[in-house]
Amino acid sequence: MFWDETHETLPRPDLERLQLQRLQETVRRVFARVPFYQRKFNDLGLTPEAIRSLADLRRLPFTTNADLRANYPAGLLAVPYDQTLRLHTSSGTTGKPKALFFSRQDVNNAAELCARAFIATGVRAGDVFQNMMTYGMFTGALVTHYGAEKVGCLVIPAGPGNSERQVMLMRDFGSTVIHLTPSYALYLATFLEKHGVEPRRDLQLRKAFVGAEPYTEETRRKIEEGLGLDVYNSYGLSEMNGPGVAFECEQKQGMHLWEDHFLVEILDPETDEPVPEGQSGELVLTTLCREAMPLLRYRTRDVTALITAPCACGRTHRRLHRITGRADDMLILRGVNIYPQQIERVLMAQPGIGRNYLIELTGLDEMTVKVELAEAGFGGQVEQLIALQKKLAEKLRAEILCKPTVQLVPPGDLPVSEGKAKRVVDRRQL
Ligand SMILES: [Zn+2]
Repeated sequence: MFWDETHETLPRPDLERLQLQRLQETVRRVFARVPFYQRKFNDLGLTPEAIRSLADLRRLPFTTNADLRANYPAGLLAVPYDQTLRLHTSSGTTGKPKALFFSRQDVNNAAELCARAFIATGVRAGDVFQNMMTYGMFTGALVTHYGAEKVGCLVIPAGPGNSERQVMLMRDFGSTVIHLTPSYALYLATFLEKHGVEPRRDLQLRKAFVGAEPYTEETRRKIEEGLGLDVYNSYGLSEMNGPGVAFECEQKQGMHLWEDHFLVEILDPETDEPVPEGQSGELVLTTLCREAMPLLRYRTRDVTALITAPCACGRTHRRLHRITGRADDMLILRGVNIYPQQIERVLMAQPGIGRNYLIELTGLDEMTVKVELAEAGFGGQVEQLIALQKKLAEKLRAEILCKPTVQLVPPGDLPVSEGKAKRVVDRRQL
């Protein structure tokens, strides 16, 4: 079943024709209305007429995080201020956030793409959607909220946290679909276990949309086991509408990226050249339908690869592999590049290990990985714990090429996160 069968199954040549037409419109719009892009085009000696094919995309300038900040609050608007309908912001680690405006059409499109995605995962009218993302300035909760309403779900805008209340809502209203971060999903599984709630017996959960932070396949399995449901991976970013940019279908083999709304490039971050088909690189996206704030070649800093093989579900839009890292999350330890997900993969695959961990960087260049033991594994012999610690340190060395100190801690010892998890604490004096 499809939400928008015509667009979701467009044959590639038709899809590409539509992409080119929309790209040309977008380029004309930003050139006419956004001084930032006018300057960039002038610097490159470029006019909108120069974009004659999709290959000409590569002649266009990049847009970066820094450009969004420099043009805060409304420098990138392509419509008059009084034609904007909603403001979202994107988290910034430092200074001002990025301001992201939506027109009426943008608000509608964002919900449409979520509706497509939800139907693709098997969600239907009549499902009960408990949304545990943070409501507010972030796009995560609101955009999916309206998407689920479009599909015809009963939407419970629960927001994150207060697990006791979450479970009460699930029981009383028969929630079948939940939307949350992977770290909170892991915590919730532990919470259910502790309170003797057996999800398959006591709850009606069928599906979870898990996103907003990168996570591994091993974590997906842990969440599926712990909550008794199917986990669907999703990808979004506020600069591109928010959630629903790319979403897994029922095949769970990569996330369909809605190519009639976004042009995708995977580039080598060092050379800015496209990587060979199927290889990993930085995801760069161009909006094709955004009205209030179109962005050309936005550098997401997210690392992924494209799957070009056709999907059994019949959708013709290419798929993204799970995000293997945010370029911004990359750590450099003793000269080696490390993604926190590499560490997570090792920890979550190890029997006896719980669901929460923390990476601490200290001293000159030292790494300590603190990880909670599984509820059942705690209370083991000291020798067993030491052996487990050693084993993990060795496995981590094989994965990240540096040997960290591993500290096993009792279940529930590490700080709990109900929104985005803080997995890395850097206190190095370099
Ligand atoms: Zn598919």
